Amino acid sequence: MAGEPQDDCLFCKIVAGRIPATIVRETETTVAFRDINPQAPTHVLVIPKAHHRDAAALAAADPALAADVLRETQAVAEAEGLESYRTIFNTGAGAGQTVWHTHAHVLGGRGLQWPPG
Ligand code: IMP
Repeated sequence: MAGEPQDDCLFCKIVAGRIPATIVRETETTVAFRDINPQAPTHVLVIPKAHHRDAAALAAADPALAADVLRETQAVAEAEGLESYRTIFNTGAGAGQTVWHTHAHVLGGRGLQWPPG
């Protein structure tokens, strides 16, 4: 069922504290933690605690929760002292999504090229 924890989901395990993560912020509905393979000096993932497979599914099922995630990307950027940063939701394998629990990448602390690869 949409939103329910999935036994085989890595990020659900982080939410449950069953896998360690370097958590930088937590709210009632979201968790933000450092990416294990950082692509910039700041690379934080913001996830909803509820399981939704990607950003599109989250937005369709729970727009208020999608807004919580977006709000937290800004809070992370502020906490990390970033004036410029990039927020990315890879959606679908062709766009590079590898973990099937909605996550926003917050990248900053270096110059970022446009367009991305
Ligand atoms: P995606 O490719 O957009 O799905 O992003 C998944 C991200 O999760 C990648 O940037 C990975 O480095 C990151 N990642 C995978 N496993 C872990 C973990 O255990 N802790 C923190 N980040 C992880």
